[in-house]
Amino acid sequence: MSEEATSNTIAFNRKNPLIARLVRRRLLTEGCDEKETWHFEIDLQGSGMEYTPGDSLAVLPKNDPALADDIVKALHLTGDEIVTDANGVAMPLRQALVDSCVITTPDKKFLNKLVEKAGESASDLARLLEPDHKDALNHFLWGREIVDCLLQFPSLKWEAQEFVDILKKLNIRLYSIASSLAAKPNECHLTVAVVQYESHGRQRKGVCSSWLAHRTDEHTPVPCFINPGKGFRLPDPSDDVPVIFIGPGTGIAPFRAFLQHRQATQARGKAWLFFGEIHADTCYFYGEEWDTYLQDGTLDRVTTAWSRDQAEKIYIQHKIVEQGADFWSWLESGAIVYVCGDAERMAPDVDKAIHDVIATHGGKTTEEAAAYVEQMRKDKRYRRDVY
Ligand SMILES: Cc1cc2nc3c(=O)[nH]c(=O)nc-3n(C[C@H](O)[C@H](O)[C@H](O)COP(=O)(O)OP(=O)(O)OC[C@H]3O[C@@H](n4cnc5c(N)ncnc54)[C@H](O)[C@@H]3O)c2cc1C
Repeated sequence: MSEEATSNTIAFNRKNPLIARLVRRRLLTEGCDEKETWHFEIDLQGSGMEYTPGDSLAVLPKNDPALADDIVKALHLTGDEIVTDANGVAMPLRQALVDSCVITTPDKKFLNKLVEKAGESASDLARLLEPDHKDALNHFLWGREIVDCLLQFPSLKWEAQEFVDILKKLNIRLYSIASSLAAKPNECHLTVAVVQYESHGRQRKGVCSSWLAHRTDEHTPVPCFINPGKGFRLPDPSDDVPVIFIGPGTGIAPFRAFLQHRQATQARGKAWLFFGEIHADTCYFYGEEWDTYLQDGTLDRVTTAWSRDQAEKIYIQHKIVEQGADFWSWLESGAIVYVCGDAERMAPDVDKAIHDVIATHGGKTTEEAAAYVEQMRKDKRYRRDVY
């Protein structure tokens, strides 16, 4: 039996978000040069906002003012021009670029306008926008932002309103909630990896993750609301069913919520946590909490994988295969498998590892293993929240 969702999703939504504040923060990757992941805590006291473990928090971010300035410069404008944003609100151009519009990822509407304004000098780009050049367009756009496209055609003359009219509304980002109200009443915790990379000679920053990490303090209003996690729910605490949580990187977030909840509700079934990151000494997110849970019986087992602590890369899927006999016996005793985190590489690799374990230790053919997994899915014993 599954725990019912009790989230209060009616009061707060995109149009009427809770204006929250990040009251506490902690760098989870202290001493690590390769990654930057933060733990944030929001105080919900008096807000009436409720959530269930497995939900995520939708956050409406702000753009980087430095990027807005670069765009204003590339447009040959001052930033003080008054424009009306997509919500019909009048404000200076610079503010609209920071608060209201997507100013990073170029879309077709923007590119078409660029081509229209640039004429013959944009004929290469015009060709890429033709329907049968989708792959070439994606290749061209990889790592390219709106500012790069503007700088490619420096002589174009833009009206402030004309520019704002072709930009999309700044959109929300989702973050799995990393706490349980049963353990932390009036709090909502997040685990956020900062997106940062270099492309085409510029340092890029993820809009929301870099805003939360670098441009907020405890006074910054953070508009947010609950996004209910469809089907990503714990079994009833009185249920004996075992659970396996597979959450490398920020995929750990909902499992921290699940484990807090299991401890607070004295859940009965066994629990096994898989966590992976790059280094054990600088990236073991919440490691001390898992130790406590192992001692008090909230967790029965923790398995970790550190990809860059040795010559060969070891990921969580390798650990699943390595501990395949036990994994199989947990599956055979009815375990629910939860997977959270990277959708592109981790989730398919873990999926393959689970198939391999079933085939090897269950003595099944490839087809039989696939049917076993399919049955798990139908029985809601294989639940994924990947992004
Ligand atoms: C249900 C759900 C739960 C989530 N939970 C979490 C969570 O708990 N913690 C967490 O940190 N995130 C989580 N995410 C992801 C989160 O919503 C954001 O997508 C993430 O923080 C990036 O947003 P951003 O605004 O910082 O970056 P954006 O401005 O959106 O930039 C990200 C984009 O940058 C581009 N990019 C990134 N790296 C490169 C590169 N090397 N080269 C070229 N382009 C690149 C890609 O196009 C990528 O889509 C979740 C997503 C979903 C859907």
